[in-house]
Amino acid sequence: MSEYEKIIPIAHKILKNHFLCDHCLGRLFSKQLHLSSNKILGQKLKKNFKHSQKCFICKNLFDNLNYFLKMMIDFASNYSYHTFSVGATIKPSIVDRDDLIRSQYKLMGIDSVKSDITKELGKSFSKKAKKIIDFLDPEITFMINLKDESCQLRSKSITLSGRYVKILRGITQKQKSCENCNGKGCRTCLFHGISEFDSIEGIISKYIFKKFGGTTAKFTWIGGEDKFSLVLGSGRPFFVKIQNPNKRKSRLTSINLNSIKLTNLKIINEFPKKPVKFNSSVEIKISSKSSIDSKYLKKLKNLVNCIVIVYDRSGKCSEKQIFSVNYKKHSLHDFTLFMKVEGGLPIRRFIEGGDISPEISHLLKCECKCEEFDFHGIEV
Ligand SMILES: [Zn+2]
Ligand SMILES: [Zn+2]
Repeated sequence: MSEYEKIIPIAHKILKNHFLCDHCLGRLFSKQLHLSSNKILGQKLKKNFKHSQKCFICKNLFDNLNYFLKMMIDFASNYSYHTFSVGATIKPSIVDRDDLIRSQYKLMGIDSVKSDITKELGKSFSKKAKKIIDFLDPEITFMINLKDESCQLRSKSITLSGRYVKILRGITQKQKSCENCNGKGCRTCLFHGISEFDSIEGIISKYIFKKFGGTTAKFTWIGGEDKFSLVLGSGRPFFVKIQNPNKRKSRLTSINLNSIKLTNLKIINEFPKKPVKFNSSVEIKISSKSSIDSKYLKKLKNLVNCIVIVYDRSGKCSEKQIFSVNYKKHSLHDFTLFMKVEGGLPIRRFIEGGDISPEISHLLKCECKCEEFDFHGIEV
């Protein structure tokens, strides 16, 4: 007796007690027979049975799949992508009835109703939209909720790297989060997590949302500067991850966005895993109420190759190396310091003092004030 002949009496026994649709009946035996279409097998097994009732397990859910297929096509129309996957939520009662049949007839190693639905939807969508199913790393993912007949679409994030040059003072690096959602994303901020676009973060975000769409943009900056600092030379590097982008590709060139210039913008495979090491060339304008003694000023040259120890609030300390030091004295009360230092040295504290050693005020034996500091280059 062939495998197929063996299952006929079981299938007929099930059908006498519980009417099943082609998909559900076929699914119970298709694995065992190594067949790929549940529907065709179901049809074959039901040949002499009249089908007037609803399927005991799924209540004819498969008749309704076109409705979800249309929804998927509609949702995906705003996205460019090549690969996709489908997930589904179904009523627990369907799972319960499926389990009941399996245990009653001792059927094992069978796909769930859910995986049959996602498989069917995946096949139909792939055919209709001419896209590739990829369950491991899809560019877009549909979540079909068959309980409330809704659909959600998520697209895989993309990561960009770039540099910004800041040519205007008075712009902060970071943008305040949307007050309504604290940055998580809500209707008020169009799911961006920020509702204003007047910082470096805001200006870059606005540009990339225009290019790629998307909800939130998460930045990693290679160092930071003051609101009133300039960032010159080739600019400061940054990384940004865009959640739910509509587009995954764009022609990227350097661009002037009023107060900042974006350069080297490109799509990269992933966020850097480790903190990026960098060195900064910085120009610092320093003033002092008491007169600055040239004798001490000359000694600042001794800071070359010196290590600065920075203590943070938790009591931990970090070390930052100084690579070069130059200065230009303008008057008895002010001078400009040019330094190349390891990235992350808190400039203001290094000048004015505060849990840092050595510090300029102490070395010059007068109270120094950091008036302004600009970056001339950031090397990674
Ligand atoms: Zn069914
Ligand atoms: Zn919000």
